[in-house]
Amino acid sequence: MVHFVGAGPGAPDLITLRGAELLERADQVIYAGSLVNPALLERCSDHCRILNRAGMTLEDVIAAVCDAESRGETTVRLHTGDPSVYGAIREQMDRLDECGIAYDVTPGVSSFCGAAAALGAEYTLPGVSQTVILTRMAGRTPVPERESIARLAEHGSSMTVFLSAGMLSALQEELLKGAYTPDTPAAIVYKATWPEEKTVRCTVGTLAEQAKENGIDRTALVLVGEFLEADYERSRLYDPGFTTGYREGREKT
Ligand code: SAH
Repeated sequence: MVHFVGAGPGAPDLITLRGAELLERADQVIYAGSLVNPALLERCSDHCRILNRAGMTLEDVIAAVCDAESRGETTVRLHTGDPSVYGAIREQMDRLDECGIAYDVTPGVSSFCGAAAALGAEYTLPGVSQTVILTRMAGRTPVPERESIARLAEHGSSMTVFLSAGMLSALQEELLKGAYTPDTPAAIVYKATWPEEKTVRCTVGTLAEQAKENGIDRTALVLVGEFLEADYERSRLYDPGFTTGYREGREKT
């Protein structure tokens, strides 16, 4: 059996209870090199075989899994954040299906949640934005043209950009082709929830300059949108005058 497990964004106590238990019981763990905090591996038993995926191809991973299966062992495939976000788990699951190997997925706290926590920010402020776009710049992995940052930026919604810390000048340019302006609030969050976490508040117009000044060119998220600053409307859910399925409003709104 293979368990895909979300390790969370970095801090070792941000893995789920289920994920931690699976790690403790695993015979083999294949983890995502630089992005998973090695402190998490301290949960593994003494007999557990620990492989760093950094030097492995998809074929190597599947071969290691098949090897473990032939001995009746359990593998945990430990992914950073949540495995469903840029985790390349689909191709692994498809191979496992072909091999007739059973698997399940345990979600994790994605780094975009860790970054918001680091900033004390809420992506979905009433009257500001009710949408979060999770995206990336095209790199070696292409992005469909209809999802280019410039096109997504037309919405002016809250946005989190993954995998792009090394190309912030280009990102900045793309963002400005949409509804954002050079003054739109932005933030760069480096290694959210790790001990070396760094948060830099800036604007869309100063993203590249601020990243350079702070020596950030990897393992960072870029957050963009008025949610980082704007005035907002009170949430209707907690408004005394607002009737919900669970609570009668005291006054009409
Ligand atoms: N599955 C992961 C994302 C993997 S893609 C998740 O849910 O978070 C790897 C990218 O995620 C990195 O290039 C970086 O942009 C971002 N990332 C991962 N962990 C991070 C962290 N702790 N702080 C900031 N960005 C992080």
